[in-house]
Amino acid sequence: MRNRSHIQRGSGVYACRTCQHNTRDTGDNGDVRLCPACYTLAGEDNSLSDNGKLYDADSARNEFYALMEQTSLVRAKQLFPRVWSALIQAPTTTTGSAA
Ligand SMILES: [Zn+2]
Repeated sequence: MRNRSHIQRGSGVYACRTCQHNTRDTGDNGDVRLCPACYTLAGEDNSLSDNGKLYDADSARNEFYALMEQTSLVRAKQLFPRVWSALIQAPTTTTGSAA
């Protein structure tokens, strides 16, 4: 397993209450007991609810990929279906490798 940041015992480790992935407080996410990916995606879900669009599509895409790695594509879609729908419609700003 690749795990660059070793999670230390007693450093505020908890299971994300959305995806159950073991994570730790890296800032704001600790207050709401979410992993960084779910924290960002929950914010994007709120943005979709409030504004009808993603706050930052690139950031949302990156965190969605992170969540997929922590769980699975199926699980990530189940957890944030609105964000997923918006992402597959959002234009990507990354260039290259257009298959
Ligand atoms: Zn999570």
